[in-house]
Amino acid sequence: MLNISEIFYSLQGESSFAGKLCVFIRFAGCNLRCKYCDTKYSYKSDLLLTIPKIIEKIEQYQPTKLVEITGGEPLLQDEVYPLFEKLTNQNYEILLETNGSVNLEKVPNYVTKIVDIKCPESGESNSFLIKNLDFINLKKDELKFVISNVSDYHFAKEFIQKNNLIKHKIIFSPVSNKIDFKKLAELIIKDKLPVRLQIQLHKIIWGDEKGV
Ligand code: SF4
Repeated sequence: MLNISEIFYSLQGESSFAGKLCVFIRFAGCNLRCKYCDTKYSYKSDLLLTIPKIIEKIEQYQPTKLVEITGGEPLLQDEVYPLFEKLTNQNYEILLETNGSVNLEKVPNYVTKIVDIKCPESGESNSFLIKNLDFINLKKDELKFVISNVSDYHFAKEFIQKNNLIKHKIIFSPVSNKIDFKKLAELIIKDKLPVRLQIQLHKIIWGDEKGV
């Protein structure tokens, strides 16, 4: 049984898949407590679902074949691995949003990982498992820095330089109402930083609504 917070259908709001129709499976439970967390409701849930039941639920959104597994932190539940297998066997393209603190070694190559590297303003900046950089697929996986202020920007920039991540796909995602998008854009341009500025599409469309 998997402990699930919610399953919903929407447009992908982040990553290079932004704007695409996607089915979201939000796992319950997280080992971190980021200050800006907008899914605190997912920390606990009474909803327990078997893998066949999850598949049945997401099939109602056919013909969409893009599914994102998110949380919470999905990798805290071991049954996520047979779920990956079942989804790929049914020809789903799988995105995994993970907070970077859990070992990625066992995540299969067919899964596109979107991996957070927490900045200081999250309150969880020591959580990233540096060994996870060994398991990033340069062609498809994405590293994401959520930026709350200029100090976070400098932290992210230094992290990229120190770990030589220039060839990686990197997203800078500003926390709305915390840092001016224009300011962040100007910093990226000034530093010629090879990252993608990603303003959360679902926040622009739906604000803080749940399940979108
Ligand atoms: S890792 Fe994600 S779900 Fe967990 S506390 Fe941080 S923002 Fe919230």
